[in-house]
Amino acid sequence: MPRPVIHVLPDPLINQIAAGEVVERPSAVVKELVENSIDAGAQRIDVELEQGGLGLICVRDDGWGIPPEELALSLTRHATSKIGGLEDLERVATLGFRGEALPSILSVSRLSLCSRTAGSPQAWMLSGAGRLEIAEPRPAAHPPGTRIEVRDLFFNTPARRKFLKSEATEFRHAQQAVQRLALARHDLGFGLRHNQRRIFDLAPARDENGRRARLRTLCGEDFLAQSVVIDEQRLGMRLHGWLGLPSFARNQADLQYLYVNGRLVRDRLPGFALRRAFGDVMHSTHHPAYVLYLELDPAQVDVNVHPQKTEVRFRDAGRVHDFLFGAVQQTLRRIRPEPDHHHAQVALPTAAVAPDPLRQGAFAYAASPVATPGVSEVLPGWSRPAPFAASHTSGSVTAPASPQPVSEQPLGQPLAQLLGIYILAQSPRGLILVDAHAGHERVLYERLKLQLREGGIPAQRLLAPEIVSLHEDEAEALEARREELLRFGFEIDRAGPGAIAVRSVPPLLAREDFGLLLRGLVDDDQRRESQTHLGEALDAQHRILADVACKAAIKANRRLSLPEMDALLRDMEATELSGQCNHGRPTWVQIDLAELDRLFLRGR
Ligand code: ADP
Ligand code: MG
Repeated sequence: MPRPVIHVLPDPLINQIAAGEVVERPSAVVKELVENSIDAGAQRIDVELEQGGLGLICVRDDGWGIPPEELALSLTRHATSKIGGLEDLERVATLGFRGEALPSILSVSRLSLCSRTAGSPQAWMLSGAGRLEIAEPRPAAHPPGTRIEVRDLFFNTPARRKFLKSEATEFRHAQQAVQRLALARHDLGFGLRHNQRRIFDLAPARDENGRRARLRTLCGEDFLAQSVVIDEQRLGMRLHGWLGLPSFARNQADLQYLYVNGRLVRDRLPGFALRRAFGDVMHSTHHPAYVLYLELDPAQVDVNVHPQKTEVRFRDAGRVHDFLFGAVQQTLRRIRPEPDHHHAQVALPTAAVAPDPLRQGAFAYAASPVATPGVSEVLPGWSRPAPFAASHTSGSVTAPASPQPVSEQPLGQPLAQLLGIYILAQSPRGLILVDAHAGHERVLYERLKLQLREGGIPAQRLLAPEIVSLHEDEAEALEARREELLRFGFEIDRAGPGAIAVRSVPPLLAREDFGLLLRGLVDDDQRRESQTHLGEALDAQHRILADVACKAAIKANRRLSLPEMDALLRDMEATELSGQCNHGRPTWVQIDLAELDRLFLRGR
């Protein structure tokens, strides 16, 4: 066989090859076109799809348009108005910059491009199928802005078409693409239609209420109700947005949006930092939910590492990681019980009973035109992070100021113990139920962590050493960790091939607990299976503490006196992260008076 000669590929084929990377399905076309509209300064972007985008993708905007003499150029590979030289590539401020999208899309579809610049009396258009047939623009009628229609995607690349999923699936991806960009730019209006049907219409958000309304539409009421506002600045970086409460943890990582300078990224590094920040309060099989915006000097970010521009590289990855981790962890730590929210969802006997507005006095500060009655604009059962806490480094804050607490004791006064498990308490706001074990466990865990940080957990000497029998390997492994265990309050000695003598234990622990606990320490799997089910994201030290806390916390059916209950409630109020136990479940709920009134149809 003769050697094939090297030759340069014809342009349309080069474009098709590039298209394979840039536009692998309709949603990618939608993303590229909407990004172009955003880059063109549009205020309003309308996306219309037919058959999941396979029949038609039409994106219309009111941006600054393309003059007729540049129309053909915009469809040429490596032609862009967004960067000029290498310096620009090092600080890209637009979403696009590679000059690949339009020529790639044209190479695999029937495309028409119609555009009118602000001062121009008319619009001009170009069209082609696979490639430009006539490079000379024709006059057309269109308001200032740009409209791109893409029909019959992949009509000339049947292999690609075969990989597409059902119309419904492709539509879902395309819808997600629009939603992601709509979440990136609250200040712009977005519309989406599919098969002539309106999917959503988002007005530009002018203020916090508008942003919350958009979040409600795109991420759901539950996320909105169960999230806190975050806004932290340090070292020239800013992280703001919404953090789902640990108790809102999900089974899938499907509500995680992180934007870096307005660009949604699916990078491992920031994801890892966020995961770690939640590690303390979330089961390892659950995923946190968040919509976060990281802003930093564009020169600190390399966006040119992925054809679809969905990954970025940070010049100083360690600094970004530490900032993300610290900012999220601090915000989670500031979540405390607060009186002014209701938390529990109570099933109502009749659906359409609205709460008595007079009873909503405590919510009034947060009342907003978009608020649904009965759905508090503030967070249910949780305080917003204190905007100007001492540890804060930032000046700019979007969260409204916290209301004056009606009571200094948001968890109220204990009345009784229910079923040996719950503490029933009342406050001026209503009724409160506390999971005594979960709450106590969190209080102990935080206290142990503090002690460990401050030099070690005190050890309490036992009257007589307790002998724990173990496997020989286990005894050996424990003995090897003797020094380390001292810091946790355990003093142990080898007392035989398969025996350990325990001389001191943390004062919290009862005699029956520490054999089990020590055995758990030697085996990682065993420890993971142990009662606390703690996340793997917890480091080994914290797992030990969590084990101790769980063992030492109040057990079910232990009778509590009123002073004991009171002490626990006060401890919880003073404890960081006391709103959820170590597994991310809530430790208490509140049913406020308005809700009780609704149950009994009072005030009607
Ligand atoms: P890139 O966005 O990387 O520059 P594209 O192929 O997506 O490359 O677009 C090529 C050029 O066409 C852009 O640089 C821009 O100047 C112009 N353009 C594309 N879409 C629009 C639009 N909606 N409004 C105005 N100009 C546009
Ligand atoms: Mg582009």
